[in-house]
Amino acid sequence: MARQYWVETLGCPKNQVDSDKLVGTLLADGMVPAGAAEDADLVVVNTCAFVESARQESVDTILALEGARKEGAELVVTGCMAERYGAELADALPEVDAVRGFGVPVTLGKKPAAPSLDLLNLPRPPSTSPWAYVKVAEGCDRACGFCAIPSFRGPQRSRTVESILAEVDVLDVHEVVLVAQDLASFGRDQGVGERAIVSLVGAVAERVARTRLLYLYPSDLTDDLIDAIGATGVPYFDLSLQHVSRPLLRRMRRWGDGERFLGRIEAIRAREPDAAFRSNFIVGYPGETEGDHDALLAFVDAAQLDWCGFFSYSREEGTHAAGLDGVVPDALVAERLDELTELQDRITASRRDALVGRVVEVLVDAPGIGRTHREAPEIDGVVHVPDDLLPGTFAKVEVVSALGPDLVAR
Ligand code: SF4
Repeated sequence: MARQYWVETLGCPKNQVDSDKLVGTLLADGMVPAGAAEDADLVVVNTCAFVESARQESVDTILALEGARKEGAELVVTGCMAERYGAELADALPEVDAVRGFGVPVTLGKKPAAPSLDLLNLPRPPSTSPWAYVKVAEGCDRACGFCAIPSFRGPQRSRTVESILAEVDVLDVHEVVLVAQDLASFGRDQGVGERAIVSLVGAVAERVARTRLLYLYPSDLTDDLIDAIGATGVPYFDLSLQHVSRPLLRRMRRWGDGERFLGRIEAIRAREPDAAFRSNFIVGYPGETEGDHDALLAFVDAAQLDWCGFFSYSREEGTHAAGLDGVVPDALVAERLDELTELQDRITASRRDALVGRVVEVLVDAPGIGRTHREAPEIDGVVHVPDDLLPGTFAKVEVVSALGPDLVAR
């Protein structure tokens, strides 16, 4: 009987893509998916090392699967934690059979292995869902003060347009979600021009009904890119803003300020009245003052974005911010987070309420669940649709009510 595998993925969409590619190698090795982790001969945990809470979740998951695996099954840890803390992790978790950094093949059999896979360009199996993430580059050339990613993911390496389009064809989906650490910088390292993202978006949009972009650094949101996104029919703008206070952004080693961001958002709304926006912000970065926090609250109120994520600052060893003074006490960070979340929840609810009565087009992801251009998969709310709509089809439905972030349609 074929040996069975189970892959558990933590962290961001970029990790999900890596897991899909690992699954491709396991299938090529003749293995088959297990129905549950308990039945698998090989259990793989693809970890996340982004912030402390993500690392804790990764360790908890490893320990839970260690306890659940059947006798004789092998447990392999891969992903960002394996790359960043490989030796430490192997010492701390002797029950793990192998710790494999990026590009190290994951197989049954506890033999030592060296990096030999170009994970970014590995083929992956067709998607089992109507949408899929496609990672177009790995690494990042920026030096944001809080972020350790460049230290272990390395500088940006963009894929070729041909390999990306070939992957899109194999996936056979209706919606492609393009991801990278710094998506709008796609192609800069290939010497194919500053604006390669614009032509890439156009080429992907010719192949699939929906092309969605995640993680756009605000200074790279040019008019050309805004137009290219509008032309895909998915006017969804995920702007990686992180804060709005100019001095604090400089301490973060990032571009921009609230006034510029608002100007950009207004300009997009003028071109794309139906545009949906998401952004993320860090709360409690060292040196964040009461005035900075008030500026962020005022921005959130003025911008009326559809979706916002607020994350408490996490001190990462080896980053610029780890050495900064002005540490914000945890209790104050929690208070600021609550205030921001409460404000944004009200804004999200009112923007969702405003859609009641509208006819919208959804892609049906699963029985009873659809999404319009306003909802990124796994990140934003959903649209509850009638159960008889077939997954993988588009349908026009009328929104009849809103339930917090979700809509109900018929
Ligand atoms: S853009 Fe900044 S936050 Fe994003 S991966 Fe690069 S360094 Fe990190």
